[in-house]
Amino acid sequence: MLLKSCSSLSTKVTWKMNPQELVEKHKLLECIQCGMCTGSCPVAKKANLNIRRYMREVSASGRLTIHPPNELWSCTTCSTCGIRCPKDLNPYEFLIDIRSMAVEEGQIAPTLRDALESIFKNGNPWGRIRGKRTEWSQDLKVKHVSQGAEVLYYVGCTLAYDPRIQNVAKSLAACFEKAQLNFGVLGEEENCCGSEVYGMGEKGLFDFLVEENMKVFNKYGVKQVVTNCPHGFNVFKNRYNQTSFEAQHHSQLLAKLIDENRLNPSKELNKKVIYHDPCYLGKQNNIYDEPRKVIETIKGITLLEFDRSRSRSLCCEGGGGRMWVDIPGPRLAEIRVKEAVEVGAEILAVACPFCMLTMEDAVKTTGNEGKIQIMDIAELLALAL
Ligand code: SF4
Ligand code: SF4
Repeated sequence: MLLKSCSSLSTKVTWKMNPQELVEKHKLLECIQCGMCTGSCPVAKKANLNIRRYMREVSASGRLTIHPPNELWSCTTCSTCGIRCPKDLNPYEFLIDIRSMAVEEGQIAPTLRDALESIFKNGNPWGRIRGKRTEWSQDLKVKHVSQGAEVLYYVGCTLAYDPRIQNVAKSLAACFEKAQLNFGVLGEEENCCGSEVYGMGEKGLFDFLVEENMKVFNKYGVKQVVTNCPHGFNVFKNRYNQTSFEAQHHSQLLAKLIDENRLNPSKELNKKVIYHDPCYLGKQNNIYDEPRKVIETIKGITLLEFDRSRSRSLCCEGGGGRMWVDIPGPRLAEIRVKEAVEVGAEILAVACPFCMLTMEDAVKTTGNEGKIQIMDIAELLALAL
């Protein structure tokens, strides 16, 4: 498909391509050039990303002129463009295919390449060794899924390795223990889920991960998987094309356990809490009520809402490989933290490890340390049990 490419990553490149496959796959001729996609894109101004122009250029001329680092890698794969499109097109899926072409040609930032190499070698993007994957559970008694567990708790790379986010995994395990849920983990056999690999356009590595992970799931007869990370949840549910197991996000399972009276938080947390909808949970999977139910079940909490909430939620800029590539300009997570402080929230609740990392960073860079805390909904619930 790719006929010609320029070599430099830092200057504009013009790809000449046979557009037929892209035009058909992404229904580019149905685009009415209304601009809703670019208009709603949270990084359009910051990174000069004009997804409407990309689609038009490819369908009209079979060429695409692009500035790879700032434009191509700025997309967070939040999916807002797809939600706003009146013709039901998915501009970001088209952009992922353009990324695949860039990856094939080596047009990829070194930080992204390092993350992909680490996934291939170590099963995680953070450059950590496989043997440390169980570090988060060192002080806990968590069984392996092979020991008769009904639910696989798929911990995921960020929760397993990041020292701050490990507390989210510990809190969720505590909630499951309290509810007497029969769960198990994969320990060092757990591998990267591949969500961000897909978003970065490395489809070959993604297919490899699906195959490897399915071998492990099938070996242990996994039927139910729960993840903290909406990216892991989404990829298992919507990209693996498997029917042998069902994936749930932890907000769904916690809400169910509350409904079944298996989790009854008794302690009061007298705090004003605002909830940030993660794109991969809300916009991409319509899960808005369950995380709020988990928060609201805790006595003493006042739940506040952002002006832009639910399907209008502002992306934190953590998805689509953006954890490994920085795009200059004001960060969206900083806007989010400032908005939360302005409405008087004491806790900004999240349900995604990437949101937690970007928001915690934003608390520091906006000078709001001590004014607001970032907590996962599982941490809040575990505190109240
Ligand atoms: S997925 Fe989000 S960031 Fe990417 S082009 Fe669409 S609206 Fe912009
Ligand atoms: S919103 Fe849809 S129809 Fe409108 S310009 Fe974007 S892709 Fe085309």
